Amino acid sequence: MNSLAQTDQKINKLIQQEIKRQQNGLVMIASENYVSPAVRQALGSVLTNKYSEGYPNKRYYGGNQFIDQIELLAQERARQLFNAKQYHVNVQPYSGSPANLEVYFALLKPGDKIMGMALDQGGHLTHGHRVNLSGKMFRFIQYGVDKKTKRLNYQAIRQLAKREKPKLIISGATAYSRKINFRQFHQIAQEIDAISMADISHLAGLIVGQVHPSPFPFTDIVTTTTHKTLRGPRGAMIFCKQKFVKQIDRMVFPGMQGGPHNQTTAAIAVTLQEASRVIFRRYAQKIVINAQILAQTLKKEGIKLVTGGTDNHLLLVDLTNLSIDGQTATQLLSNIGIYVNKNMIPNDLGTPTKPSGIRLGTPALTTRGFRQQEMIIVGQLISQILHQPKNKQINQLARKQIKQLTKRFPLPR
Ligand SMILES: *Cc1c(COP(=O)(O)O)cnc(C)c1O
Repeated sequence: MNSLAQTDQKINKLIQQEIKRQQNGLVMIASENYVSPAVRQALGSVLTNKYSEGYPNKRYYGGNQFIDQIELLAQERARQLFNAKQYHVNVQPYSGSPANLEVYFALLKPGDKIMGMALDQGGHLTHGHRVNLSGKMFRFIQYGVDKKTKRLNYQAIRQLAKREKPKLIISGATAYSRKINFRQFHQIAQEIDAISMADISHLAGLIVGQVHPSPFPFTDIVTTTTHKTLRGPRGAMIFCKQKFVKQIDRMVFPGMQGGPHNQTTAAIAVTLQEASRVIFRRYAQKIVINAQILAQTLKKEGIKLVTGGTDNHLLLVDLTNLSIDGQTATQLLSNIGIYVNKNMIPNDLGTPTKPSGIRLGTPALTTRGFRQQEMIIVGQLISQILHQPKNKQINQLARKQIKQLTKRFPLPR
């Protein structure tokens, strides 16, 4: 059979253009990263040809002897890497959103009460937003950050939990730049006999690298995507304590999903192997150092940050003192090849489509090899664009500097 270039010129050309875009731009979207060639090789393998509904040694189709070994390896490596030996892990969820819904439907009944962080305060859509199936099918009680400090206030969360008595409490966020105290969340859940769940999608790589506290080995359920700081393929995993194994596995399959994406399972296994190396731990440390240098640089330039800084891989920029909204800022930065996303800030007076903030992350640039010096340059470029969006000279100069940077730091290949 023919190659992609021969079979489908249109798609091939678009992929080539996307490769160039990735090469020539700076990804500062906190949830994106660059996977290794090894991960991509597994992802593009013939494993995509195989149906394997069920679980290792309990399949509905023949010919799964190698798929079984791949899935078991992925499970074993996941438990090893996260120091979660007492846990069971399901590596089949198609992505983070279905993984979370699978947990809710496995352990609760529609209409049951769950507590999660509100989207406009830093939580994820699947933590109970009303437009999401989570918010439609369950009675969500939403917590946020403290009005003054913009940080989680565990005493306030405890009070809310005691008053509302949810059956499940979710910790974890998607736009929160400070450490999350998973132990506190678990204790609060225990005090009201609720199940504790940590969604570490954003933090998985930092937890592996020991630069963020872990929700193991006490949290009842831990979900994570595999494609953010963990630097793997798009996918997800659900860890659970032994007493939840049956319910979780049955909800993933046959409850919500059909055949697992075996090519993804293999790529996850490769990712977990890569993440177990010392060099990955150093990578995680660099992500945080880079984020902190970026924060310092922006602050020196008069840019406001929610909570004034960061403990992790991301920063939330508060644009309210500048004459620019998050939508415009995202567009202007993308015009020069810096990719970010607009984001609500706590108690935002704007709207989700025109919020007052942008979110910046360092995982992808750190994978490319950016260190202190480069982060300072990037911070200054962002500041110049935000302060003087209409200055043509600044825009031109920025483009030139980005070209130099991207040339010096090619993508992993
Ligand atoms: C990204 C993310 C998800 C969802 O992941 P998808 O793979 O995009 O569905 C869920 N929870 C949190 C906290 C996330 O950051």
